[in-house]
Amino acid sequence: MREYHMDRLTTMEMARKEGREEAGKTIFRLMEKVLGSEQCWIWDASLNNYGYGTFWYKDRHDIAQRASYELFVGDIPADKFVLHSCDNPSCINPHHLFVGTHQDNMADMVAKGRSKQGEINRFSKLKTEQVIEILRLYKNGFKNKTALAKRFSVKPPTIHKIVTGQSWKNIDRETIHQERLNE
Ligand SMILES: [Zn+2]
Repeated sequence: MREYHMDRLTTMEMARKEGREEAGKTIFRLMEKVLGSEQCWIWDASLNNYGYGTFWYKDRHDIAQRASYELFVGDIPADKFVLHSCDNPSCINPHHLFVGTHQDNMADMVAKGRSKQGEINRFSKLKTEQVIEILRLYKNGFKNKTALAKRFSVKPPTIHKIVTGQSWKNIDRETIHQERLNE
């Protein structure tokens, strides 16, 4: 049994008093999968590709924050999504949830770097200055591509392509060489 937060117990108590036996049981089952926290209620069970919790609810696998919103707040309009005001996709704290449109959802995911595109971008976007820095380090004897990759949050093949001139061909390697010699 996990440690329960006071207002969760209060909510469950209220649910029971209101005769919402079934909802009370579901809330209990939901809260068993949450890690105790003062702020975010972190989902400590299965997550989908977007980092959202998944929960067996109304005879199907639903998104945990949707179930949480329905159980603690109320109905979700058919065309609406349950979004986070916190920066934590696995949070199901109803105080951190609000409903929005599909467009809001996409904007939110991109802003928080959680869309599939965002994930790819996170690994592929280097700024010119960073590429120059990689080339400088490499030319100065920092040859460990894995370490360079880690340092710049990219994958090792990205570093390989940069240092072998297969990518970022627009950057003048000679200039970087000169700079190094003048230092
Ligand atoms: Zn939260």
